[in-house]
Amino acid sequence: MTSKTCFTCTWLHQAVARIEADYQRSADTHLIPIPLPGYASAGIDLYLKDESTHPTGSLKHRLARSLFLYALCNGWVHEGSTIVEASSGSTAVSEAYFARLLGLPFVAVMTRNTSAEKVALIEFHGGRCHFVDTAAQVYDAARAIAQETGGHYMDQFTYAERATDWRGNNNIAESMYQQMQHERHPIPSWIVVGAGTGGTSATIGRYTRYQRHATRLCVADPAGSVFADYWARGDAALTAPGSRIEGIGRPRVEPSFVRSLVDRMEVVQDADSIAGMRALSRILGRRVGPSTGTNFAVMMAIAGEMRRRGEQGSILSLLCDAGERYLHTYHDDAWVKNTMGDCAAAEADLQGLLA
Ligand SMILES: *Cc1c(COP(=O)(O)O)cnc(C)c1O
Repeated sequence: MTSKTCFTCTWLHQAVARIEADYQRSADTHLIPIPLPGYASAGIDLYLKDESTHPTGSLKHRLARSLFLYALCNGWVHEGSTIVEASSGSTAVSEAYFARLLGLPFVAVMTRNTSAEKVALIEFHGGRCHFVDTAAQVYDAARAIAQETGGHYMDQFTYAERATDWRGNNNIAESMYQQMQHERHPIPSWIVVGAGTGGTSATIGRYTRYQRHATRLCVADPAGSVFADYWARGDAALTAPGSRIEGIGRPRVEPSFVRSLVDRMEVVQDADSIAGMRALSRILGRRVGPSTGTNFAVMMAIAGEMRRRGEQGSILSLLCDAGERYLHTYHDDAWVKNTMGDCAAAEADLQGLLA
């Protein structure tokens, strides 16, 4: 027998090694306590895992790493493959980063009305933007570009729930439980997350069951999203107008949203998400993104319930991305007033809960 160098494997092995080396150079994200004296004295502690500190600024950094490794190890991506994604948001930014790391061309498919800032951010990381007229066209256009170029359509909404190792391997859930170990309520009573792909909620839900923790998982769903209705009724053909909170809530039921893993769903009105975003930005002394505001609104609702019932425990959620990406939108008072109306009543309600 002669031993043979596997020429087709060489690039693949180097590609996987590059992603692993990049991971080895990276630090984990912080779990930060939210200072709320009125709740701390009642035995209720709130924490946020700060996903804004990844090199590409959001929790999508984890997803992009998982999707690339999954595609590589499935044999779907080769030397020179064009990587295509239907995304104008954080997923495109993070995938552009990993495509560049591997020396692969990256194309993000999005609607023509995508903001210039987002296009610039994707291009900064080496990606190219392809524009279509309507949101419904992005999936077929992405698939077509992958086919024409002999490349690969990543398809975050299908693969997010399966690309991440749910038993551990330092996934976001394992890291959260580890970082809680020296706290007074180390096993959270609740973990609150939003759902865009649904990948994060799937990973946390599975890991919690696998570890046999008593933690319950609550998904905070923005008004206009289909997920809350789908969770209640189980009909995957349902549709909805779509959410106005970037990164979370969907107009159609996505395959990566695993309904059976969610213990509770809360629908959050836009004004409450904005109130949550503003209040949390004040408390932390730095701006957070709108989906973090949605999370915080639900964390406070649950904390309020626990306080009224005399329950003690911890509540965890995510700081999904920083507010600097939204200075001309969600952090612009005039834009908010035009797009979402008056948020004064929601802000007053939240202030009442925070007191
Ligand atoms: C994607 C995203 C989410 C939701 O995460 P999923 O794992 O896709 O459900 C929340 N916030 C922001 C800013 C996001 O980009």
